[in-house]
Amino acid sequence: MSSESSVLECRNVTAHYDIGKGIRVRAVDDVELSVKGREILGLAGESGCGKTTLMRTIYRDVSPPLRVVSGSVTIRVKDGEEIDIYKLSDAELRRIRAKVLSYIPQGSMSVMNPTSRVKHQFFEVFRKYGRFKKGEILQQVKGRLQELGLRESILESYPHQLSGGMRQRTVIALATIMNPSVVLADEPTSALDVVYQRGVVEMIQNIRDMFGTSFIIVSHDMGLHNQITDRIAIMYAGKIIEVGKTDGIFSDPLHPYTEGLINSIPRIGGSKKLEGLSGLPPNLANPPPGCRFHPRCPYRMEKCAIEEPPIFRIGDRVVSCWLLEGK
Ligand code: SF4
Repeated sequence: MSSESSVLECRNVTAHYDIGKGIRVRAVDDVELSVKGREILGLAGESGCGKTTLMRTIYRDVSPPLRVVSGSVTIRVKDGEEIDIYKLSDAELRRIRAKVLSYIPQGSMSVMNPTSRVKHQFFEVFRKYGRFKKGEILQQVKGRLQELGLRESILESYPHQLSGGMRQRTVIALATIMNPSVVLADEPTSALDVVYQRGVVEMIQNIRDMFGTSFIIVSHDMGLHNQITDRIAIMYAGKIIEVGKTDGIFSDPLHPYTEGLINSIPRIGGSKKLEGLSGLPPNLANPPPGCRFHPRCPYRMEKCAIEEPPIFRIGDRVVSCWLLEGK
């Protein structure tokens, strides 16, 4: 890995959907991204910009029509060993899932087995990773539920008997029970009311603090990123276009798309008219040439439509925009 402190690195990752009739959707294009130990990294951008595909690519949850064209995903396990996710056999991949790299996809109901009591779903996680005695498992699970503010009694429930907030927290407990190094969480607070959202935010922060877990939090909700993340990567049309510390991204967005996202956030009591983004993201089967944001960009220059901007490094910020050339 290029950085000593990184626990996960994506290098030049490109993934396409080949959806027939020669149509290729370039959902993830040449992505470079790293997550540090104990870090909560946000992945932000409008719907359809490739966030979920990038998470699936990192987790190697890849099947046709999705195809990883190039790049590598490397993870550092607790003894310091580095693993290239795409060089593992299927059996090796199953072993590191949950123990090293865990994934919480969107929609808690789709993750849980509706016909199985919650306790059996925890037993199933442990069964995949070795022989454990049920009593020992229950002791560990009850401890985790307590830490997450959930009652032991939910272990006897079926998923549909839990409220949305309890179910979401249970899914997060299932994903983190083996204390993985990195958790990928896709829209973990969507469809939750404000009270439950706050609970999930606190729980993620507690897990990071207690177990040193790193998170990638995917959300289109910039307010959530502002509350929970240490750094944010902004994704547009399959590309990472800006990465920086959360404070800096909010106080001084450098990429015009990031600026548009920040300006779209409604503020309590704010009387100023929102100056968000105009237009729509491009069709990724036929993205525009040059900078993919140029048809919507208020600052576009002639070369923006011709030449793709490279990555510019400004302090600890990474930005792909011609406005930063020579700065
Ligand atoms: Fe706008 Fe040009 Fe920067 Fe793209 S490269 S965001 S079009 S100024």
